[in-house]
Amino acid sequence: MADPNPPVIVWFRQDLRLADNPALQAAAATGAPVIPVYILDDDAPGDWRPGGASRWWLHHSLASLASDLQQLGGELALMKGEAQEQLDALIEQTGADAVFWNRLYEPWARKRDEAIKSSLKDRGVRARSFNGSLIVEPWDIATKTGNPYKVFTPFWKSLKADHTPAEPTGRPDALQLHAHEGGLSLDDLDLLPTKPDWSGGLQENWTPGEAAAHGRLGQFLKAAVSDYSDRRNLPGQSGTSRLSPHLHFGEISPRQVWHAVKQSDHARTGGADTYLSEIAWREFSYNLLYHFPDLPEANFQSKFDAFEWDECEDKLKAWQKGQTGYPIVDAGMRELWATGWMHNRVRMIVASFLIKDLFIHWRRGEDWFWDTLVDADLASNAASWQWTAGSGADAAPYFRVFNPVGQSEKFDPKGDYLRKWIPELADLPDKVIHAPWTAEKSVLSRAGVTLGETYPEPIVDHGEARKRALAAFEKIKDAG
Ligand code: FAD
Repeated sequence: MADPNPPVIVWFRQDLRLADNPALQAAAATGAPVIPVYILDDDAPGDWRPGGASRWWLHHSLASLASDLQQLGGELALMKGEAQEQLDALIEQTGADAVFWNRLYEPWARKRDEAIKSSLKDRGVRARSFNGSLIVEPWDIATKTGNPYKVFTPFWKSLKADHTPAEPTGRPDALQLHAHEGGLSLDDLDLLPTKPDWSGGLQENWTPGEAAAHGRLGQFLKAAVSDYSDRRNLPGQSGTSRLSPHLHFGEISPRQVWHAVKQSDHARTGGADTYLSEIAWREFSYNLLYHFPDLPEANFQSKFDAFEWDECEDKLKAWQKGQTGYPIVDAGMRELWATGWMHNRVRMIVASFLIKDLFIHWRRGEDWFWDTLVDADLASNAASWQWTAGSGADAAPYFRVFNPVGQSEKFDPKGDYLRKWIPELADLPDKVIHAPWTAEKSVLSRAGVTLGETYPEPIVDHGEARKRALAAFEKIKDAG
């Protein structure tokens, strides 16, 4: 006999939270029992399956979601494999007559989800998708001529004027969870590193999950948002929110962040406005990815296709390991390796260094970030690498080459950040720590530094590299 009240499946993806979750809310509102499921679909993304640091985060985020659901008397079903097959199996097993989810914007996910939606509908299973990740979805915002925004400032103005988000919802009031047994265990998903287990630094620095995301936001609003405009560029200070991995995995929604900022004691400060504009950069990146799905793989400005890159594995390795001899670059790359995160100012410096000093294709940097960042996000990563390269939409002009020494002196004047991540330089005076090769021998020796032994000599001369980069750009600038 047919179930008079068949369950609804809520397919969790990058929305690992209970509050302000439109798919979950809508499922609860049907009054039917809800089956929450997460499917690890590693086949779909091709080159872009989650990297090592993301998988670590995902494991702990799922553990947190599962525990929150347990407190409500339910289980998070875990599955692995092709999403369509897994959903079909779950429908077959439970008699569910509907599947609800929040939308993704990665090109492969869109394709997959469209196919799943039409296949479910064909078989009489209700399939509904919602916006759980963005303030404004890419098809709802356009220029006056109806085209996608390619420049950030007008995008931001339009978002603020015409797309302020509705109030977030809380957790669903009456969530009736369907008793479901027999899925995989979290360990079966095999998300954690084992041989070796390199996740110690991640563990020390992060607590994935919905509660921790709100804790971090609360702390930021209390202690840092009012000074955000002044301190956001100083990597030696805790001047930013560090919400990026929580936002990527949807443990907190941008809508929740927006309203929490607006309702905070510091809502009227310049810091609050600047902070929301950074949230809008995330939106802008999604907007670009949606309209230009090649963004992660191809130059947005095709004239950059003619660029002649070096393929120097040694230099790439030195960059990855934080052994370039430029302290600010090395500090950033070591912070990334140790914690899965890097300060935004330093991300721009290391990216510019890879592209314009080492002449290595931005895609190699994008790949490394993809594997090592806990906040690795296809839209923000691709848009930001292309921004730095100069090949993107509304990008930094190619001829603006970051000077790694000047940037270091300006944004870490006392060398706090450098000393934290490069202990072998800790005893150098502030004046020379940004460029140890300029120090007198006696100064180096008093600080216990021997260049080429305890710390590398610079692997390139920035002045020469800059000239070479500008000359190469001259060659391509009129192409395409
Ligand atoms: P805050 O300063 O507190 O900003 C708040 C939020 O706004 C962030 O959590 C993030 O969601 C968003 N945001 C801030 N700056 C940007 C930006 N430039 N572009 C898009 N969104 C932004 N961010 C990612 O989330 N994932 C990535 O994979 C990623 N790759 C990057 C690669 C490069 C080369 C560069 C230069 C930047 C990259 N960024 C990426 C953007 C930015 O560096 C991080 O979002 C930010 O450092 C995260 O720290 P936070 O949460 O403390 O930021």
